[in-house]
Amino acid sequence: MDVRFWGLRGGAPRCGKDTVRYGGNTACVEVRCGSTLIILDAGSGLINLGIALVAQKGEQPLDIHLFLSHTHWDHLLGIPYFQPAYRSPGTLRVYGVAGMDDVLLGLFRGAQAGEYFPVPDGRLMMELVFHELKEVTNVGEAKVSYYYLNHPGLTLGFRIEYQGKSLVYLSDNEPYRATNQSLIQDDEGDRYLARLDREVVQFARTADLLIADASFADDEYALHKGEGLSSAHDALLVGISTQARKLVLCHHLPHHGDDDIDVIVDHCRKRAETLKSKLEILHPSEGDLIHL
Ligand SMILES: [Zn+2]
Repeated sequence: MDVRFWGLRGGAPRCGKDTVRYGGNTACVEVRCGSTLIILDAGSGLINLGIALVAQKGEQPLDIHLFLSHTHWDHLLGIPYFQPAYRSPGTLRVYGVAGMDDVLLGLFRGAQAGEYFPVPDGRLMMELVFHELKEVTNVGEAKVSYYYLNHPGLTLGFRIEYQGKSLVYLSDNEPYRATNQSLIQDDEGDRYLARLDREVVQFARTADLLIADASFADDEYALHKGEGLSSAHDALLVGISTQARKLVLCHHLPHHGDDDIDVIVDHCRKRAETLKSKLEILHPSEGDLIHL
């Protein structure tokens, strides 16, 4: 399994000299399982992925499997500028939960409506096909499963298994127990939320690579509790409790420049060391590849 990062930011893309090293694009991860191409999220990083695909494949047909964690803008921004959609005669398969077909179709059509975008969707060359997610979706030889995350709106985490390797993607997520305080009125409510957190950990167990929400530095998080996003410390604890091998922090918000990310990653590595964890914490730049 080859994993290439095209966008690890959240909220909005950010260009400028302090995002040059890691890149400024929002959520998009390319996963190659043999010849099968899976894309996790369609943030602005999808634009560079599309340019790379056209450079590699020219106008040959492509068969692309796009899994959307949810429908907030930072996870969809790249769709109208995804070049293969206009140049490749292949198929773009978009996966969502039951009942999301109409929402997703509306987003594709809406994003390209005349009010927002100059190219009518009639110019699309790729066929768009929507698939309802099953408990486990087979994509080529890979298996993709999902779990519900704690984020406003319907938001999914994904797990991809291929030839004995596993990747888990938990962007836009906050520990259930850290928020929803109104539900913790008694032991039962507390136990319910604790169970949901355990289920997320179970879903992500022993991943070879965990990509986890680290939107906030630890000292910022208190002001943002309940927004459905995690601190870097939360991401570290998920990584340790799932016994993941490698952890990539994601969904860095626009006010975090490269130097801020360095501090956050360094802090996490030191904490992992203090906790005697062997978790490897990485921070790839856009375009970097991790082979599992
Ligand atoms: Zn987001």
